[in-house]
Amino acid sequence: MAALDGLPPLRDVIARHGLDAKKALGQNFLLDLNLTQKVARNAGSLQGVTVIEVGPGPGGLTRAILALGAKKVIAIERDPRCLPALQEIADHYPGRLEVIEGDALKTDFENLARGEPVKIIANLPYNVGTQLLVNWLLPRQWPPFWQSLTLMFQKEVGQRIVAREDDNHYGRLGVLCGWRTEAHMAFDIPPQAFTPPPKVTSTVVHLVPIEKPLSCDPDKLEKVTQTAFGQRRKMLRQSLKPIGGEALLARAEIDPQRRAETLSVEEFCRIANLL
Ligand code: SAM
Repeated sequence: MAALDGLPPLRDVIARHGLDAKKALGQNFLLDLNLTQKVARNAGSLQGVTVIEVGPGPGGLTRAILALGAKKVIAIERDPRCLPALQEIADHYPGRLEVIEGDALKTDFENLARGEPVKIIANLPYNVGTQLLVNWLLPRQWPPFWQSLTLMFQKEVGQRIVAREDDNHYGRLGVLCGWRTEAHMAFDIPPQAFTPPPKVTSTVVHLVPIEKPLSCDPDKLEKVTQTAFGQRRKMLRQSLKPIGGEALLARAEIDPQRRAETLSVEEFCRIANLL
């Protein structure tokens, strides 16, 4: 069946370019263009918007983003085997797709955005995705260079991103995301939607920056959350000992018998501001 954009079906593209999925690169491709459109729509209107896509692979999500009217897509892909397939999409949408071969973890995204507001969309291996998310959340300058993040993760990571206090999934990621963004899980994608299917359900998470988050130094907040959640079952007076323990908690007016997972984002910021 021909696709709506007039380009060949992704299954044919993959066969023609010999893009057998590589486990080491976390390659689980979405071949259903209706589904990739559903993911891309989650980023809101793309009309006239510049999108940075990480890990386009054979280009299913890229095609959806372009079909939905993005002014330009800048795509970073690590696997050189995907470049000829992506070039076909670039030829179909002249001047609208720029592909950069490289490792997203070593990419200067702010520089890529060239001062334009961008939306970031990605379906990435979860370890790379989590590290990138943390990098995107920690710049000193806020609001950041991006308008929104629409990211696919394994569901458990999505739950950690949106978790707040008193939730088993709450941890460093929940505090960081809760501090600077409004984050929600949009919808799940079952393993069988991917080729090859991963072991777990995936979920699409959408994050938008809070204009004026609580004032806090990102490095200090990282230090507090890492220290507190490093021993999440212990009382704070014990887990926070390396950075000030009971004295620090007294200054923050927080009961030292509480555990990390009961502290709100505001309370974590309060402690960080006292370091
Ligand atoms: N976007 C495509 C889709 O939805 O079908 C492919 C998704 S696949 C889960 C992840 C893609 O990210 C692969 O194409 C893989 O080669 C690429 N990738 C993995 N690690 C990367 C990295 N560090 N930098 C850039 N791309 C990476």
